[in-house]
Amino acid sequence: MGQIPRFLSWRNMLVLSLAINFSLILKILKGDRERGDSWDRTAYVSIWPVVSTTASESSSLSSASCNYSKIEEDDDRIINLKFGDPTVYERYWQENGEVTTMVIPGWQSLSYFSDENNLCWFLEPELAKEIVRVHKVVGNAVTQDRFIVVGTGSTQLYQAALYALSPHDDSGPINVVSAAPYYSTYPLITDCLKSGLYRWGGDAKTYKEDGPYIELVTSPNNPDGFLRESVVNSTEGILIHDLAYYWPQYTPITSPADHDVMLFTASKSTGHAGIRIGWALVKDRETARKMIEYIELNTIGVSKDSQLRVAKVLKVVSDSCENVTGKSFFDHSYDAMYERWKLLKQEAKDTKRFSVPDFVSQRCNFFGRVFEPQPAFAWFKCEEGIVDCEKFLREEKKILTKSGKYFGDELSNVRISMLDRDTNFNIFLHRITSSFNSTL
Ligand code: PMP
Repeated sequence: MGQIPRFLSWRNMLVLSLAINFSLILKILKGDRERGDSWDRTAYVSIWPVVSTTASESSSLSSASCNYSKIEEDDDRIINLKFGDPTVYERYWQENGEVTTMVIPGWQSLSYFSDENNLCWFLEPELAKEIVRVHKVVGNAVTQDRFIVVGTGSTQLYQAALYALSPHDDSGPINVVSAAPYYSTYPLITDCLKSGLYRWGGDAKTYKEDGPYIELVTSPNNPDGFLRESVVNSTEGILIHDLAYYWPQYTPITSPADHDVMLFTASKSTGHAGIRIGWALVKDRETARKMIEYIELNTIGVSKDSQLRVAKVLKVVSDSCENVTGKSFFDHSYDAMYERWKLLKQEAKDTKRFSVPDFVSQRCNFFGRVFEPQPAFAWFKCEEGIVDCEKFLREEKKILTKSGKYFGDELSNVRISMLDRDTNFNIFLHRITSSFNSTL
């Protein structure tokens, strides 16, 4: 250690240190006054376990590291709840994911082909098996006599379905509609290549044109979480059902879905968005064939490594439901969503500064009990005359959300992800419950 210069006596050092501390205290007090509100710097004390998931900590996260203690609010930190990044599931997979660990040797996955006897020749048989099994265990979709088409996320399958279902004659692009508020990415994907086969036709609720059209039915819906059916009153509609959220952590499973084209994804069922795997259950062979043709043209199949990983994850999920010991994956994720919705709804009731939708309870065949939907997103409405809710939350609360305008709806609504890590959810809750007064 360096020597203290001779000209600084211990008394000098003491005076210096007192002066530094005093000015620091003054700075903190001044800062609080300038912020002009009475925020408690310790954020929301949740009954839901609070875990810190900064990069250095996340790898060592375990049940033991979950605690119910206070977290430090950092007023400058921007909380991004714009996307539905499913990191809420991280904790479950860190605690239970050991069994999903895989080693893939270098000699594997050389061939383009997975199963030359299957119409979907790039579908890994192991994945096909686990998809059928998980739907049977959960009871959320009919798989018998269905073709399974695997895709790089359900995003690719949506495009494959548009390609397969659009007329390929010279009748011009078919209109693609969905009832507002609709998933904001649909219009963007539909129109991004300015296809001659299909084009975005807007809100299905006001669609009046004659002739064939494609209607997208997202159920439960992104962004508002309601269960849906088609709304255009015509016999010429071709339906695509996006069932990304038809899983028991989000909504009661009332019956196995049985539609012509149903899209599912690992992103929202198990939380593995980064593996990029979705699957379609398709009734009609020719539609399935054309979807497969699109994926051949687009990416010559789908990553085998990703398929094998999802097969393993789905297997673990099904096993966790069938082995009655301990909590299943869906028990765990249901509880996570339940706690978050309970806190948010309570706050909406108490403050009346914002509202969230009211849902009807239904009996879930999977859990064998009645409960209300607890969606992956909160369709959040600013009250008290706040016109632009996204702007208000961004400027006043440093919370990033997605404005209602992207979903074909009003500026007073925003979509907020309920799937982020505990820390971010807690800070979000703390910030929206503190002063909601605005000059906007
Ligand atoms: N459909 C809906 C309704 C979604 O919310 C999402 C993800 N936000 C997707 C499809 C896309 O899912 P994937 O990650 O499988 O492409």
